[in-house]
Amino acid sequence: MKNQEYVEQEYRKACRYCEHGQLSSDQTVVLCPKKGIVETDYLCKKYVYDPLKRVPQQPRATMTDFSAEDFSL
Ligand code: SF4
Repeated sequence: MKNQEYVEQEYRKACRYCEHGQLSSDQTVVLCPKKGIVETDYLCKKYVYDPLKRVPQQPRATMTDFSAEDFSL
């Protein structure tokens, strides 16, 4: 995957990451004071990115499958 594709996929602009929007309790729509109720993937020209709304990916679980013998000589 090229770097630009990764950035577009990971940092795609959407209402769920906008400073103005608030996710509903069931997380299916965004409540916006400027546009009302909108879809989570919707976007308008007043978008302002809020990095605190992005949930980081969990680390891969395969790194926990090691034992003490794997690190001894
Ligand atoms: S509709 Fe516009 S202002 Fe409202 S949350 Fe979405 S991008 Fe932000």
